[in-house]
Amino acid sequence: MINLSRIILIDHHAHSLLTDFSQLDAIGFRQAFSESNSLSMLQAHAQHSIHYMHMLHELSEYLDVEEDEEQILEMRSRLGKTDYVQMLFDDASIGASIIDAGFRKDDMHSLQSFSEICARPMYQCIRIEAVIESAMSSADSFKEMYENFEQELTSSAGLKTVAFKTIAAYRGGLQIDSVEKPAAQSDFAEWKYATTDKKRPRIFRGPLYHYLLNEAFGIAAQMNVPVQIHSGLGDADADLRDANPWCFRSVLESRKFSKVNFVFLHCYPYVREAALLASLYNNVYMDLSLALTLISTQAGSLFADALAAAPSTKILVATDGHSVPETYWYASHSARRGLASVLSYLIGNGFTNEEQAMSIADRLFHKNAQDLYRLSDF
Ligand SMILES: [Zn+2]
Repeated sequence: MINLSRIILIDHHAHSLLTDFSQLDAIGFRQAFSESNSLSMLQAHAQHSIHYMHMLHELSEYLDVEEDEEQILEMRSRLGKTDYVQMLFDDASIGASIIDAGFRKDDMHSLQSFSEICARPMYQCIRIEAVIESAMSSADSFKEMYENFEQELTSSAGLKTVAFKTIAAYRGGLQIDSVEKPAAQSDFAEWKYATTDKKRPRIFRGPLYHYLLNEAFGIAAQMNVPVQIHSGLGDADADLRDANPWCFRSVLESRKFSKVNFVFLHCYPYVREAALLASLYNNVYMDLSLALTLISTQAGSLFADALAAAPSTKILVATDGHSVPETYWYASHSARRGLASVLSYLIGNGFTNEEQAMSIADRLFHKNAQDLYRLSDF
């Protein structure tokens, strides 16, 4: 079995940490390892998922405490927060991260403070929908809204922006329409007229949204940053059928966006579909991220499906870590176990040799991210 335990990971898709992550009770802690919004699920069932039981087992070994949820929580609450995060990130060989800046801001660390806690390079991924909603809430006219939108996407404030991200999968689906400007203008005017609470818009499938998404793809091309696309699992309000990467094919077919690199995130259960797209289109990439945690028992077969169809230059590893430091740590180890098992199988069956396998692992863990996001300063 080849050993990937020390290979450096550039975690190209993750989120920030909860400010009170060390003081969570069992329900709060389980929530970080479940996509369910149901309290009774978290009380009665989530702790019996194999991935969660396995994570507790690994954590108890690492922290040298009994394999008991209560004792583990007690132990982690006593450790210094910064030391604990750095310890887990070191153990998981996470060298740098790209953080989605638009997810649950109020109870989470700002990107700046997260990057200080982790003490390693961090880059920003701008969530397009957050920018659209903020531009809408502060504008009286379409023109003003568009200027805010453009300005926020291209702003150089904060951490360096290396990617955009869209959550269209759970805002009406990945089938993106091509929309002319007048249709977007009248959609905006209608929203202005009809909505009472203009301070908190929630953009959803419609002419304004899809016009601005298309514009954002164009801006990404000018800025030479890839667009990450939420796909597959990862949000309980998604209609999974609309989160199939294959639904995005009209954009991929449009010659207008042939210079934009698109990265499908999570992908599960559509790993094969994503891998086929990555094998067809020069500008399509994929990862497994959240599936490495939630479907950890199958990490090897997920990598096997991805590598069976997609070139190894098109697959990236990410943790989709969020809320508690153990999510980054567990997903990183899950990726190492899963990829090592499939590469060992491929070597054993004569599909590749050890040297090639190690260079495939290097690509997936950091080289592809370095090239795709142009992280020349890392
Ligand atoms: Zn995510």
